[in-house]
Amino acid sequence: MSETIVGNDLQQAIHLLDNGECVAIPTETVYGLAANALNEEAVLKIFEIKNRPHFDPLIVHTHSINEIEKYVEAIPDWALQLMNKFSPGPITYLLQKKNNIPDLVTSGLNTVAIRIPEHILTLELLRNLSFPLAAPSANPFGYISPTTAFHVKDQLDSKIKYILDGGDCNIGVESTIIGLENNLPTIFRVGGIAVEEIENVIGKVQIRIESSSNPHSPGMLLSHYAPRKPLLFDKVEENLKLNSDKRTGIISFFKKYDAVENENQIQLSPNQNLHEVAKNLFAAMRKLDAANVEIILAEKFPEIGLGRAINDRLKRAAKK
Ligand code: AMP
Ligand code: MG
Repeated sequence: MSETIVGNDLQQAIHLLDNGECVAIPTETVYGLAANALNEEAVLKIFEIKNRPHFDPLIVHTHSINEIEKYVEAIPDWALQLMNKFSPGPITYLLQKKNNIPDLVTSGLNTVAIRIPEHILTLELLRNLSFPLAAPSANPFGYISPTTAFHVKDQLDSKIKYILDGGDCNIGVESTIIGLENNLPTIFRVGGIAVEEIENVIGKVQIRIESSSNPHSPGMLLSHYAPRKPLLFDKVEENLKLNSDKRTGIISFFKKYDAVENENQIQLSPNQNLHEVAKNLFAAMRKLDAANVEIILAEKFPEIGLGRAINDRLKRAAKK
């Protein structure tokens, strides 16, 4: 295939998607690699391009609650309350699927992961399609998710025809995934909507993000979202001493470290804002992965609000 085109031509994206092709799309979380969720052949292309194992189910994207109703058996009360508050937004619901969603999308599960992304261009795109879009992150399986059109092009060039460029992703980490376990609302992936915000709406929820052996939620795999270089999470001062013989890059909240050259350290938010950290996190990991360093050290962030999702991604990036 020839070089991938990057642009903001909705008609071009619609045309390709109508014809069963994959298109990279912007969302508020990360860029997605999208295809017609109702067309198995189109969905198969997503798995092939990403090199994604078939046991890893995809998230389905639509533009409204009315649309969601077409693909799920029912929207339970807890989900409706959350949708009214946070959708469009970075939260994905696991709901009983209808038969129109192919098994390939859900890896054979009887639930479908579905959400309404908060991005003007992509909402406009979805309103102009007669089908929802299945879209995992637009990167090779296991690598850091893309938060700019350039990140997508960098890794998927010539593998797809078109990248719809909607600018930098506003949230910068993947959506929070919530479903039921033993009939209780349960968070399976921490993400762009904080646990505290969810609990403010529906009360206490369970959190099940540590299970490493559950192949049904590989976003939960211990090693994921990872740079190619070794990344050491937390205990930066200690790790600096232990690795004083290595060229080192550092990802920090706001602090500067004297032991490392300025160009190899990234302060994610000098004014200590976790939204800014989330927004800049994946780009920083990519930058240091490409820099002249041998290892990357990353601080642990406060475990509140978006800090949980940020630490979760760094922890998985650190596992090999
Ligand atoms: P992403 O790679 O951001 O598209 O996220 C997809 C992730 O959503 C998967 O790796 C799973 O962890 C989760 N997921 C999708 N569908 C389901 C489902 N039906 N049940 C449980 N988890 C799901
Ligand atoms: Mg992904």
